[in-house]
Amino acid sequence: MTDDRATDAAPPTPLPVRLRAALDALPAYTPGRPATVREGLVAYKISSNENPFPPLPSVLDVLREAATAVNRYPDMAVTALTAALAERLGVPAERISTGPGSVGVLDQLIRATCDDGDEVLFAWRSFEAYPILTTMAGARPVMVPLGPGDRHDLDAMAAAVTDRTRLVLVCTPNNPTGTTVGAAELDAFLDRVPSDVLVVLDEAYLEFVDDPDAPDALAVHEARPNVVVLRTFSKAYGLAGLRVGYAVAHEPVAAALRKAALPFGVNSLAQAAAIASLEASDELDVRVKELVAERERVVAALREQGWDIPDQQANFVWFGLGDDTAAFAQACDDEGLTVRPYGTDGVRATVAEPEANDRLVEVAGRFLAARRG
Ligand SMILES: *Cc1c(COP(=O)(O)O)cnc(C)c1O
Repeated sequence: MTDDRATDAAPPTPLPVRLRAALDALPAYTPGRPATVREGLVAYKISSNENPFPPLPSVLDVLREAATAVNRYPDMAVTALTAALAERLGVPAERISTGPGSVGVLDQLIRATCDDGDEVLFAWRSFEAYPILTTMAGARPVMVPLGPGDRHDLDAMAAAVTDRTRLVLVCTPNNPTGTTVGAAELDAFLDRVPSDVLVVLDEAYLEFVDDPDAPDALAVHEARPNVVVLRTFSKAYGLAGLRVGYAVAHEPVAAALRKAALPFGVNSLAQAAAIASLEASDELDVRVKELVAERERVVAALREQGWDIPDQQANFVWFGLGDDTAAFAQACDDEGLTVRPYGTDGVRATVAEPEANDRLVEVAGRFLAARRG
């Protein structure tokens, strides 16, 4: 085929497409990298807080069955999963809004509450999706530095509320530092936040919490019309690849979230697998307990080596390394462990298979010894 117009044509000029200026201010979301393959070494990706256990056989059976009907749209109202969650949590179904991951629900929350220039308040460091979703919605992220022990500084956060604040995000346990807020301090904080400002308790790692002082978020929600609980099937329930999460919010808020939701955002496989996972929660809880036991084992070993590790309540371990962050991440990578470095703040490493956890402890021990010279 010849086309002599093509041979001497000038390269096409790019169209002057208008993109939003908000994009310029945005960091790209940094996904967990896949593990670097090292000769003779099983590589572990411990950078994304994924569950190391494969899906349960009962969940796989349900997925196979659901796969036969993917020519149909999913149930847009997510009826069966919503009913199952309502029963499990003891709340009316009207209070539940689902989405493609709890990140999807968080997007609904921001778009349902914020106009241009409104403020979303959260601790920093915290979940890196927060500033991205906030900025893309045209709202302004207000980031309050974590306090001592890498914990939320709830006093400073209460003081940072302005008449433009529409949403406050409390991440407990906090990603990436693994610390929780206490029940009493959360209560005192909520007393100070105006009752027309929505407060989201992001409990992506709730199932891994064993601190008796942690808040009962559903009870807090029950008592306060401006409190929303955000949860996910991605972490403890091991469905990260399917994308399904939910909010528990009082009715006017939940209804607004459903309006703000992407139509058909929760796919049919995700709906089916989430229901099957709720039905298999006893089996899944056994796995969660194993991961919590591994977390405790790793944290104890690291402290024994001399690491100053804050109280850890999720499925990962936080190393507050400061300027040594990149060097430690490289040391891990050299041994086939891909961890998640955060600038010059520290490294987050997911609690995974015992072999990966053992290797992490070994690398950390050698790194600390070398650093001390
Ligand atoms: C992983 C995570 C989420 C949500 O993940 P989804 O897969 O979108 O449900 C939400 N919040 C925090 C703090 C997380 O770490």
